[in-house]
Amino acid sequence: MTTSTSISRLSMLLCSALLLPLCALKAEEQPIPIFDAHLHYNADVWETLPPARVLEKLTEAGISRALVSATPTEGAERLYRIAPGRVVPFLRPYASRSGRYTWFRDDTIPRYIREHLTRIPYRGIGEFHVFGDDARTAVVMQVIRLAREHQLALHAHTDRLGMTAILEQAPDIPVIWAHAGFDVPIATLRRLLEGHGQLYLELSFREGITREGKLTPEWEALFANYPQRCLVGMDTYTPGRWVELIDLAEAARAWLRQLPPDIAAGIAHDNAQRIFRESNRKLTPVSGQQEN
Ligand SMILES: [Zn+2]
Repeated sequence: MTTSTSISRLSMLLCSALLLPLCALKAEEQPIPIFDAHLHYNADVWETLPPARVLEKLTEAGISRALVSATPTEGAERLYRIAPGRVVPFLRPYASRSGRYTWFRDDTIPRYIREHLTRIPYRGIGEFHVFGDDARTAVVMQVIRLAREHQLALHAHTDRLGMTAILEQAPDIPVIWAHAGFDVPIATLRRLLEGHGQLYLELSFREGITREGKLTPEWEALFANYPQRCLVGMDTYTPGRWVELIDLAEAARAWLRQLPPDIAAGIAHDNAQRIFRESNRKLTPVSGQQEN
């Protein structure tokens, strides 16, 4: 018998004989596994957090898989290449932070997307920022057409008008609403969820989910009515958010634990896992250059 086996047998004996309540509590408090539906691996952390360290950090935070986008998108490609089973890469349609305010009028963007789609099997386009009628420009329409053509999801940081425009153009692909629109009224969320079977709410920074640490009745009811349509995300849009990753995941678990376990498991992990099953997509046949 090895030393570690002896120790684990000893601890089992202790559990059953002396520490039963403590052990039961521990089992109950096993961290809920998280599929993070909103991570960024932006250039500003590449030096301090190399890809291997990112994976360790995700493990420390109990995050088993993650939807990852980046500025520039090469960040998502770097992470995907070392951990294709854990990283669901999304293609951000602009290469610098300033692009987020202009991409939807930049007619070079569809070509930029097509070129990048040949590099790795991207699963979606986003997270992109667009608001109001800007979501109806010719460029946005082309980007949505590309997503449908390649069976990609969309990840949009937008308002009610923007989301309405996107859903009109994207009736048949998953659309993830970053931050669930921040403060868009719950009645509006319900109406859009009802009308569009593939709309998902990603809940980082969303207002109103808890009050003094307690889940609010309106969100508890929304989760009960749409248990398969909500996702958690940590949104590591700054280096500081990476530093806080474990705490952010714990904060999400604190309200998830107030839900029935099957609903919590869905929001924390299973819903995203269902959207992004491993075998959903293969790399688009390459017609351009392949990056090394
Ligand atoms: Zn974000």
